[in-house]
Amino acid sequence: MDGVSWARLEAEIARRGGARFWWRDDDAAAPSPALERLLAFEVPISLAVVPDAAVPELFSNLGNHVSVLQHGTDHRNRAAPGEKKTEFPAAEADAQALERLAAARRRLSKLAGDRALPVLVPPWNRIREELAGKLSSAGFTGLSRDGKAKPVAGLKQINTHIDIVAWHEGRRFIGEEQALSAALELMDLTQPLGWLTHHAVHDEAAWRFLEKLARLKGVRWESGAELFSYTAAGHG
Ligand SMILES: [Zn+2]
Repeated sequence: MDGVSWARLEAEIARRGGARFWWRDDDAAAPSPALERLLAFEVPISLAVVPDAAVPELFSNLGNHVSVLQHGTDHRNRAAPGEKKTEFPAAEADAQALERLAAARRRLSKLAGDRALPVLVPPWNRIREELAGKLSSAGFTGLSRDGKAKPVAGLKQINTHIDIVAWHEGRRFIGEEQALSAALELMDLTQPLGWLTHHAVHDEAAWRFLEKLARLKGVRWESGAELFSYTAAGHG
């Protein structure tokens, strides 16, 4: 009954006089057919790039609708036994983590230029709160995790709310019904509704869903630059 669900979401958006959405796609490092397919969408995309894995070619063909966010440093799981997957384990000193992050930020800025925003997307949406509180000292002004994350003083945090991949069910698409009902439930958010995608693992159903989502009437898609109130430093 997908027609009914899309129509219902569209009607709800119309009733509210419009909706604000944003789109974060994670794990970019190199060009690929899947990335090309993602970037062909004509809505603003906030691309979370893994700095240490990124190749220069990734940035040669990005349209103006793409903002680049920093996806950790190397996306390596450093969790100790018993700890959840994380790039930032409890055993690592804050100063060391901040140093890694700052070096990765310099690398990403060099590769992506003005398109790179000083916004951290921690891999697995996970970073220790104490370390998050120190990110501004490493030059970050923004943070993006999942919708339940706590605010962090000194950082603008814009989170994602609907992950369209069912990671524990063969990485299939979560399904239209689940995605649309989640969107309907989240219509009262004060922040823009954040869609989280991972272009490298999408099945055809995920892509077809995104094609319909991008055409949904009444939606204002916000760019990373707008969301994080980032103003590029003057040239010269
Ligand atoms: Zn990731």
